[in-house]
Amino acid sequence: LLESVKEPLFAAHNMGHAQKVWEALNNPEVVTMVQCAPAVRVGLAEDFGMESGKLVDGKMISALRKLGFDKVYDTNFTADLTIMEEGSELIKRIQENGALPMFTSCCPAWVKYVEQEQFELHENLSTCKSPQQMAGALFKTYGAQVDKLDPKKIVSVSVMPCTAKKFEASRPEMKSSGSQDVDLVLTTRELANLIKHAGIDFKNLEPSQPDSVLGAYTGAGHIFGVTGGVMEAALRTGYELITGKALDDINILDVRYSEGVKRATIQVGDLAVKTVVVAGLANVGPIIEEIKNGTADFHFVEVMACPQGCISGGGQPKVLLETERKAVYASRMASMYKHDEELPLRKSHENPEVTKLYKDFLGKPLGHKSHDLLHTHYVRRG
Ligand code: SF4
Repeated sequence: LLESVKEPLFAAHNMGHAQKVWEALNNPEVVTMVQCAPAVRVGLAEDFGMESGKLVDGKMISALRKLGFDKVYDTNFTADLTIMEEGSELIKRIQENGALPMFTSCCPAWVKYVEQEQFELHENLSTCKSPQQMAGALFKTYGAQVDKLDPKKIVSVSVMPCTAKKFEASRPEMKSSGSQDVDLVLTTRELANLIKHAGIDFKNLEPSQPDSVLGAYTGAGHIFGVTGGVMEAALRTGYELITGKALDDINILDVRYSEGVKRATIQVGDLAVKTVVVAGLANVGPIIEEIKNGTADFHFVEVMACPQGCISGGGQPKVLLETERKAVYASRMASMYKHDEELPLRKSHENPEVTKLYKDFLGKPLGHKSHDLLHTHYVRRG
């Protein structure tokens, strides 16, 4: 059984992206920029025989540098940025009677389901791109500007917990930088194979930090990797933007640890924000039914296609025994929240590099440049 899940780097199904990443890393004519999703750093350790859920963010960054990536940025940074845009979008929709409830749009499997099966609800999807795609658009614009690089020479790579992200990166509309914003996508397992292929002693690597200016993140950006995380991050920022006051308790437990469907009402100033967190695409049916029959009274719906969110994505290290799966996912989830608690900043609007990005480049959330680079539209898809 173990033999059957070994994945040589250049096995048939890896020939596309993994081989092209390897070629780019060995091409002195290009500049490689990489980002890793939040869930990758709590899964990667398992492919190196380390304990499940172990946070290896620093080793992961060092490994990426050893592989030869020129700039190691972070999807957690654009998770914070997503909150700035998506939180502002939700407030605008509530104030201006826009399409409600608003759906999160960071899971491409969920977005494609809406486009394919529920197209009449596509206006409920937030127009925000996912953190992966926001990062890709910024690498070849803001990143190129800061690093004084020719955008045409940048190869933009991401490491993600699922193959749905490969599809998302290849969508024709994801070219706001002038070319495909994310060129190549590796899964967590594919990154592990690449590290092994390069002969890097992952376990003994000294940890290091991501590069500035697209690398800093808060606890809110990090918890995007678990079900309920986007909702909690949005509420942390939305509460302070709307009320001008700090939250009494930043841990919003009412939206955490959901299995199936979890509903909560969070008082934000005078407004009772009604939220729904859906863990697993199989559970979204009743929520869609309520919206269609007019009985839905909620404002914001988070849907992640995988049962525990991205920590349980199909590109993460495999948990072979079904009896162990629950415990492994629980340890990955606990690791996510532990890191959130350890970080000095835990609200997206406090990310100093996000503030700098708006000041130096984007202007303001939902502004003209944000619209061009960070937002998208949806089409009926078969
Ligand atoms: Fe991919 Fe699953 Fe995360 Fe959706 S929830 S982005 S399908 S890993």
